[in-house]
Amino acid sequence: MARYTGPVCKLCRREGTKLYLKGDRCYSAKCAIEKRPYPPGQHGQRRGRKLSDFGIRLREKQKLRRIYGMSEKQFRNLFDQAVGQEGATGQVFLALLESRLDSVVYRLGVASSRAQARQLINQGHIAVEGKRLDVASYRVKPGSEVSVHPSSTKLGIIRQNVEASRRRKVGPWLEFDADNLKGTFLRQPAREDLVVPVNELQVIEYYSR
Ligand code: SF4
Repeated sequence: MARYTGPVCKLCRREGTKLYLKGDRCYSAKCAIEKRPYPPGQHGQRRGRKLSDFGIRLREKQKLRRIYGMSEKQFRNLFDQAVGQEGATGQVFLALLESRLDSVVYRLGVASSRAQARQLINQGHIAVEGKRLDVASYRVKPGSEVSVHPSSTKLGIIRQNVEASRRRKVGPWLEFDADNLKGTFLRQPAREDLVVPVNELQVIEYYSR
């Protein structure tokens, strides 16, 4: 299945939780799920049916996939890589998701959402270890420097995002120098570092069926 390109607020309303897909708007009163806290569509306001065990696992998997904005194929491939690595699969999977370049750019505050991070990367505004890198799925290695490419440091949208994110602290697995638009991916995050509204054990069960 290809990447979803429709209205993203519908996804939050479908999952019944904020997935934070629209940057600053998600923290404002304009957030669609605050205004309409029921699933989209004609029958959205009817009382929901009780989900089967399979349904619960499917919804958790969809939630996680939508938060990271990946196609089913990419998501499944990454999951299979997590299974092949040492450690608790759920934690390894989340760490791999957070090691993607788009996630790192978003978490550093250079982009206001992962979708915008992908756009900035695709347009060549981001560098890893000083070299322009335009692959959003690139896996950033611990210790690597992720920065705004020198030719893009004056870009309005980046300046605006960085100013807005100065008030927020970056996660403990990252370091960011907002004046020089340079960050470091210190290590892969641990589960307790992440606020992700998903039970990853249900995702493992979904793929292990
Ligand atoms: Fe979800 Fe953000 Fe839209 Fe709110 S504004 S419904 S959190 S994408």
